[in-house]
Amino acid sequence: MPELPEVENIKRGLERKILNKTIVDIKINKKKLIKEPSLENFKKGLIGEAAKKIYRRAKLLIIQLKKDKFLIVHLRISGWFLYGNQEEKARVIFKFSDGTFLNYMDQRLLGELRLRKDYQNLAFLKNLGPEPFEINLEEFKKVLKNKKTKIKPLLLDQSVVSGIGNIYAQEILFLAGIDPQRPASGLGKDEIKLLYEKMISVLREAIKYKGSSVDSYRDLEGNKGGMEERLKVYSREGKPCFVCKKTIKRIVLGGRGTCFCPYCQR
Ligand SMILES: [Zn+2]
Repeated sequence: MPELPEVENIKRGLERKILNKTIVDIKINKKKLIKEPSLENFKKGLIGEAAKKIYRRAKLLIIQLKKDKFLIVHLRISGWFLYGNQEEKARVIFKFSDGTFLNYMDQRLLGELRLRKDYQNLAFLKNLGPEPFEINLEEFKKVLKNKKTKIKPLLLDQSVVSGIGNIYAQEILFLAGIDPQRPASGLGKDEIKLLYEKMISVLREAIKYKGSSVDSYRDLEGNKGGMEERLKVYSREGKPCFVCKKTIKRIVLGGRGTCFCPYCQR
């Protein structure tokens, strides 16, 4: 599932490729992905339009169009964009006046595309907490202070901090040396500080290396990210820890698989 770094990379790719390009045609191969308005109005509202500005909010893409409408894209589990030629496997295809295409790819068909006059009132945007880059250490401490929730599921709670998913939550906790099962409220001051620093540094590193292609995620040119080779603990069950050489363990927390080193993470 694309997380903050992957969606940021898609956003930067879209800025490079499609800004100010006029949409001349749209082909919708999977109708269920268009959540609003009707298919007809979705097409009508977009043809002749062009992206003026592109925003990312947590894991969501917001494409502001020239006439102050917004195309809001929720990639969910397996959504991504491929730019260039028309792709046979694309679910939605945008054609531009220069003859290029933007293909919306989504193997599992769980993504959501919306064309709206606003985006601020969408429930899944309204309920988002601050992004890791928007919150300072003091605020982060306050957020964790009274939460009895285990720290790993808490990092995944988008209303607490937004943009972190299952890959980076595991990486952050490994680098901070914190057992993912500990209650957030039980963390000491120094542990919270380290957790905060690792949260920022892991996400920065992942953006720098263009995200992790552990599943369907690719950039706009179809290239894999470079971060998956740098992951320390994600999906490494049974393998030796890079630090202590003991075996990485996998447990399920809040319904999500979680790898950690029981020796390095206390
Ligand atoms: Zn270890």
